[in-house]
Amino acid sequence: MHMRSSKSYVIFHYRMNTEKKIVTRFAPSPTGSFHVGSARTALFNYLFARKHHGKFILRIEDTDKERSKKEYEEEIIDSLSWLGIDHDEIHRQSERTDVYKKYIQKLIDDDFAYISKEEPQEEGKRSEVIRFRNPHKKVSFKDLILGTIEFDTTDLGDFVIAKDMDTPLYNLTVVVDDFELGITHVIRGQDHISNTPRQILLLEAIGATRPLYAHIPLILASDRSKLSKRHGATSVLEYKEMGYMSEAFLNFLALIGWNPGTDEEIFSFEQLIEKFELEKVHKGSGIFNPEKLDWVNKEHLKLLTEIEIEIAIKKVLPSELKQIEGYSEEIFSKIIPIVIERISKWSDIATLVKEGELEYYFTQPSYDSAQLVWKKSTAEDAKKYLEKVIELLETMNTEDFNSLTVKDTLWSYAEEIGKGDVLWPMRVALSGKDRSPDPFMISEVLGKDETIKRIKIAIEKL
Ligand code: GLU
Repeated sequence: MHMRSSKSYVIFHYRMNTEKKIVTRFAPSPTGSFHVGSARTALFNYLFARKHHGKFILRIEDTDKERSKKEYEEEIIDSLSWLGIDHDEIHRQSERTDVYKKYIQKLIDDDFAYISKEEPQEEGKRSEVIRFRNPHKKVSFKDLILGTIEFDTTDLGDFVIAKDMDTPLYNLTVVVDDFELGITHVIRGQDHISNTPRQILLLEAIGATRPLYAHIPLILASDRSKLSKRHGATSVLEYKEMGYMSEAFLNFLALIGWNPGTDEEIFSFEQLIEKFELEKVHKGSGIFNPEKLDWVNKEHLKLLTEIEIEIAIKKVLPSELKQIEGYSEEIFSKIIPIVIERISKWSDIATLVKEGELEYYFTQPSYDSAQLVWKKSTAEDAKKYLEKVIELLETMNTEDFNSLTVKDTLWSYAEEIGKGDVLWPMRVALSGKDRSPDPFMISEVLGKDETIKRIKIAIEKL
């Protein structure tokens, strides 16, 4: 018979281990709105599983019958679907009572747990719970982010694992499910570290292999306090409503507590999967910075192609826009690049409309004649310069009337007289605003006739 050498045996084992399929889980409790912190936990679990061609499981932890609500479960599912975090399996703990019961019975049979008679806290309340027999020992685990963590479990006492055979508590259900679903990596918030020693004791008692743990840093607000409603929106769907792009939102979330170790910050979903490494997740808390979110979203906006922008923008156009006098799709298509330049998220379009920032592209603006006069210039001068501008514009071809050709036509005159003296009144004549894009861009949108018409109206006012 051929004996396998010890060397090849080692290699065989090594291969077995590295080829083990990675399985992660995201295990939210549907007891409140779906928080951005939960979304980040889901994301890290997802990125890690996808990167290693593993499995990502969604597990709804709804054993708390009073606090769990179906509408919150729906919100979790809608939020994840908006973000594109798709699961390979879904499980609901409320549907697994029989499984937990089997384990509770086994723990009792093996004397790892016992039914404990308790003094009822309220009259008529149950007087028994199921407690775990604490072996009083030291438990240590190597957290993939935080390093070795050691606990003495003595302080935990004989903790309760179920209220009764049909009502298991959190630590037990997590352990049973992590074991039964073959979870290899438990990636969750640092607020769960204190649960880990209890869970390790229970894993040992049911004879389960221990998953690897990675406790990720919490998300704080800019003032370093817990991120809450008073800092602004905290639920994922609110960000969807505000018109952020899901890919940008994921990019932003990933950067709270992680970066690939380079200066690069803008990533597509695919790139996040490729670059994500658990080992590079920070130990300390991350900050949720809304300005950074706007910046990341804007960077993603810039990456969209013209066609993508057109499709996206049509879906988010506020109805107020179409109510502007003189609105036409044709003009709107022309101002898309200008609009994109001025927004960082889709809902900013509605703000621009509300603030009257887009009206003048469609309608003759109203303004005071005094507004037309630049600093030390006079009304008379402004009139003279505008007359000259018209004279120059008249020489132009209607078909060849765009921001570049208009600029070419007017530039040397503006330089000769003073740019502010000439271009300020022209810009106000076209937009009625103290601040707006330059007059060349507006001229292109308006076209030759409308541009000249508006400048004539300004001259009449002066
Ligand atoms: N259900 C727990 C929660 O929502 C998470 C449990 C876990 O990840 O182990 O906080």
